[in-house]
Amino acid sequence: MTPPDTEDGRPLLLLDVDGPLNPYRAKPQRRPDGYLTHRVRPASWIARHPETPAARVKPLRLWLNPDHGPALLALPLQPVWCTTWMNEANEWVGPLIGLPPLPYIAWPQMHHGDPDGLHWKTRALVAWAAGRPFAWVDDEIEPQDTAWIAEHHPAPAMTLPVDHRHGLRDADFAALADWARTVAP
Ligand SMILES: [Mg+2]
Repeated sequence: MTPPDTEDGRPLLLLDVDGPLNPYRAKPQRRPDGYLTHRVRPASWIARHPETPAARVKPLRLWLNPDHGPALLALPLQPVWCTTWMNEANEWVGPLIGLPPLPYIAWPQMHHGDPDGLHWKTRALVAWAAGRPFAWVDDEIEPQDTAWIAEHHPAPAMTLPVDHRHGLRDADFAALADWARTVAP
């Protein structure tokens, strides 16, 4: 897996896309306030429809809030994509909310089961962080993930479950800023 940029000493902000940035479970006919609708066709989405000619695959709807990019960049944290989008987030998501290209976690596998009932990302992201402090923002974090990270990660870590009906809200940004203050050198 790609190591983090070691030139940047800030704690990591491990950022999921679907849920925190794209509140995909909001009421289907009502775009949430502050969000814009985008329709995108990343290669991995087209690949999920092998029976359909590429040009006819229905685009994926994304709701994104253009305020989120600047708000994330204002945090004293180093944002890293922590999402099934992997590097496609740099092409299809980041530019729509004003984020520069970010490092991303290249998962060795995805959506697999875990013997301890952890999320499939949990062990991999802890390995990727390699002992650096991190905040993990995701709509699928469960208490067992938080407990496992506390036990196995040697540096400060924050888990921030986000409601996939709402996406990131002001209270979430405030919680991240508060946490960053507690780990500042
Ligand atoms: Mg998600």
